[in-house]
Amino acid sequence: MKTSILFILALLVQSLGARVFTNNEGKKIEAFLTEVKGGEVKLAMKGGKSYWVKASTLSKADQTFIQAWIRAGERGGKKAQDALNQQDSLKVEENWDDRWPDAARINPDILIKTVTEDAANRKFVYHSPNYEFISDVKLANQIVKKFAILFETTREYCRVLPISTMKAHIPGALFRNRIYLFGSYSNYVRNGGPPNSGGVYMSRGKFGVILAPLTSMGVKRKGDRYVHDNNGNNDVLPHELTHQLTDVHYFQPGALGWFSEGLAEYVSATPYQTGKFLVDNNIHAIKRDVISYNRAKRRGRGLGNKIAAPDLKAYMLQSYGQFTKNGNFNYGFGLLMTYYFFHLEEDRTSITKFLKALKSGKSGEAALKELRNGRSWEELEEDISKAWKREGITITFK
Ligand SMILES: [Zn+2]
Repeated sequence: MKTSILFILALLVQSLGARVFTNNEGKKIEAFLTEVKGGEVKLAMKGGKSYWVKASTLSKADQTFIQAWIRAGERGGKKAQDALNQQDSLKVEENWDDRWPDAARINPDILIKTVTEDAANRKFVYHSPNYEFISDVKLANQIVKKFAILFETTREYCRVLPISTMKAHIPGALFRNRIYLFGSYSNYVRNGGPPNSGGVYMSRGKFGVILAPLTSMGVKRKGDRYVHDNNGNNDVLPHELTHQLTDVHYFQPGALGWFSEGLAEYVSATPYQTGKFLVDNNIHAIKRDVISYNRAKRRGRGLGNKIAAPDLKAYMLQSYGQFTKNGNFNYGFGLLMTYYFFHLEEDRTSITKFLKALKSGKSGEAALKELRNGRSWEELEEDISKAWKREGITITFK
């Protein structure tokens, strides 16, 4: 937490000069980004000359910067884009080689800022360090803070997972992830929330937004204000928040479904205490989530510890529509597969190769070939079955 505060301060201080762009040959130029068109960007040098450059030839950090610049324009126009240009260091770096975290924690003493309170238009905007909450009812800062801690901790968890999902690395000083909150359930549904859901991620554009009723924030209405609900439940949030922080590449065919949902389930199944995800030993909670069903918490897949699984290749390549049709099984099984590649192989070589392949534009069978990492589908199925067997779950593939 300390380092990220320092980093944000550093960003604010370094407000002179242009950004240094780096291309994939390692060449560096100092320039302002002035235009983006069809995969090309226009870089203006200080001397006055401008060049069109293919965005794909620039570093990953530059590409993240470009996305941030586009979004800054959508939100705050040219002024916001110019402000971004002045910040020379969007130091967002991939973290493939980092250790798997034992825990993900933040200092829960976060600052909540009231940005807008417009009662006439029912628009109330609050900022936490990395989130923008847009509510249709007024909320006390203390109430926002209570649920914002879970949002901030989930972001921190996604950031420290060594899977290089860069959306989780962009500091809130550059822009915040957007969350729309609704005081009434009917307003939530009227604005696009699926009936009976507790919250939803909508991939509008590259960044996407989350819609949620305030009841899902552990907040309830009391008279004319909203207060903390001790019996409240915000179980669904980390799942949806993870989707919002997952790079678009990880939603490509081959990963869409088993991995995109498996990752969100992995995060949300991890035990959480205020300001802290206990990643170490999350296998117990994950197994419980897949094997059994908790009636009181209305949580768990109840798949038992003897699982008849479909053909793995067909499972991983099925359409998302098919995947959700048999959602209970597929989400639970996706979690087992995701966990396997994160933890039950000797190292994370195959999942890292797979995710890097997705980032480089591969998808479907071509990306899954990297995941198989030299094994046939049958050999991979055998590896998975053996590993889960040691953990007490018998998987029989079709
Ligand atoms: Zn999901």
